[in-house]
Amino acid sequence: MKPVRKNINSGFLLALLLGGLVSAILVRVFVTGRDELLEMKNRTPVLGTFATYIVIAERETAALILSSMDSLARYLDNELGVYGNGELSDLNMGGYVLTHELSPDMKYLLDNSLFISSITDSLFDPAMGLLVNTWGFPDDPHLPDSAEIERALARSGLVNVRISGDTLLLSSGTLLDFGAIAKGYIADRIYSHSRSLGARAALVEIGGEIRCGGDPETARLWRLAVRNPRGDNIMEMIEIDSGAVATSGDYESYFFDNGIRFCHILDPRTGYPESGVASVTVICGNAAFGDALATAVSVGGIDTAESIPDSLFSLIIVVTEDENGEITEWRRGSI
Ligand code: ADP
Ligand code: MG
Repeated sequence: MKPVRKNINSGFLLALLLGGLVSAILVRVFVTGRDELLEMKNRTPVLGTFATYIVIAERETAALILSSMDSLARYLDNELGVYGNGELSDLNMGGYVLTHELSPDMKYLLDNSLFISSITDSLFDPAMGLLVNTWGFPDDPHLPDSAEIERALARSGLVNVRISGDTLLLSSGTLLDFGAIAKGYIADRIYSHSRSLGARAALVEIGGEIRCGGDPETARLWRLAVRNPRGDNIMEMIEIDSGAVATSGDYESYFFDNGIRFCHILDPRTGYPESGVASVTVICGNAAFGDALATAVSVGGIDTAESIPDSLFSLIIVVTEDENGEITEWRRGSI
């Protein structure tokens, strides 16, 4: 039996240019399986951006798997996203939660956010929701006055999150915001879900964070393009058969004021957006870590990229921009 896929080895182009929100583009998939397989894809709003799923599975199950992935994405979006009215919203509104009542998903995000924070000098910080709101990202980005920034900064950051006995407490006004790890985490969850339901291979992309993989015997190779942060061209082609590619960039959400770019990645030390790093791509085993590390490196630059333990990534690509707009690419590791 022949695989049921159009243009399988003819280099079909699947450009996932989702309104400029995506920094990596899936270009091509090679499939060499012998069973009758179907490739299906879907795109759905998640976490204020879009999720794209591609699933290769047996003809009878592909549609069911895709629809189950979609349900899980919507559920996690509501529970973990700042736009939802689930667990994160309850926690932020209540200001506390009993730790044994945390869902496994929330526990994962908290535990791993603390871990990434601990290895990045707190440059990754999941308690910056008030500061993000003060800057108006993503709906009404604007330059706040310095007093507003000072006030928001005082109530932002993990120093305002305490565990007392069996209760996790937020200081008054402090808001958790997993915007820099949840997209990767949800991509991981949906990918694993598809595989547990029998997908032979799958790729999940949420706002530029990608998780992909497949059965070894089917030898699927995913070709991903990393976009030039200052243009529409492709800067780099990456081929992986499994793993994660995460990209953070100052071009995803930003505004200019007096010729200065202000982006949505904030420096917890100053309360102001990072500057000097145009994009960071991290290739590693899971998208949650890639997502969080890419954000931390966006804030800390090459110094932070140099300090990340080898075991956590395969390749980090940092694109910096100097005062004259000159772009330089720096990299550590290989794939
Ligand atoms: P993108 O959404 O472009 O993939 P990131 O993964 O870097 O970018 O996530 C940026 C989002 O994370 C911001 O919109 C904000 O909600 C939150 N955030 C901003 N700065 C930080 C930071 N230093 N640490 C953790 N989260 C941050
Ligand atoms: Mg991130």
